[in-house]
Amino acid sequence: VEIITLEQRIKSVIREVPDFPKPGILFKDIMPIMQDPELCRDITETFCERIRHLNIDALCAIESRGFFFGPMICQRLNIPFIPIRKKGKLPGDTISYSYDLEYGQATVEIHKDVLDPGTRVIVHDDLLATGGTAAAAAELMLSQKAEVVGFSFLVNLSFLKGEERLQSYASDFIHLVEY
Ligand code: AMP
Repeated sequence: VEIITLEQRIKSVIREVPDFPKPGILFKDIMPIMQDPELCRDITETFCERIRHLNIDALCAIESRGFFFGPMICQRLNIPFIPIRKKGKLPGDTISYSYDLEYGQATVEIHKDVLDPGTRVIVHDDLLATGGTAAAAAELMLSQKAEVVGFSFLVNLSFLKGEERLQSYASDFIHLVEY
């Protein structure tokens, strides 16, 4: 009997789109996963199994594809979901962090006072590439004196060495699929 792993199931539905959103990028489109409720359930359950022992108080995720599994994980683990959004989307008082992209800059924000000092958080996103986005999220957590316990991603593009970049923030690193 051939056993099909969760990683194989996920990879079989991820769609690869060459030259999106710009030439030279092979975009991993995770959207088809969302059309398969059983796969979504298994992904959520696997994330929870791997995160539960970290005893985190909250999970923060990055707009917008981090919002697919972030809230599902939070609901299962019974912890708050902390959204990180792009500049100008959050209505209340915010803390911002700007970081460099391949071309230009990006700014991410959280609401002030959503995190108490010492809160143990995990940073979650759909995909880890260079690590710039996740590092920015970690910086926002540190600015609120939260404790970054780890990172979780559906996909790790490991050839881009994002994990190395995140090592200075936390050592617990979870991914379900690797390219
Ligand atoms: P980075 O900051 O370089 O780690 O890029 C990670 C962010 O960009 C994540 O929010 C991803 O959703 C998105 N991203 C980067 N590269 C890709 C890719 N090849 N396919 C899909 N999404 C990507």
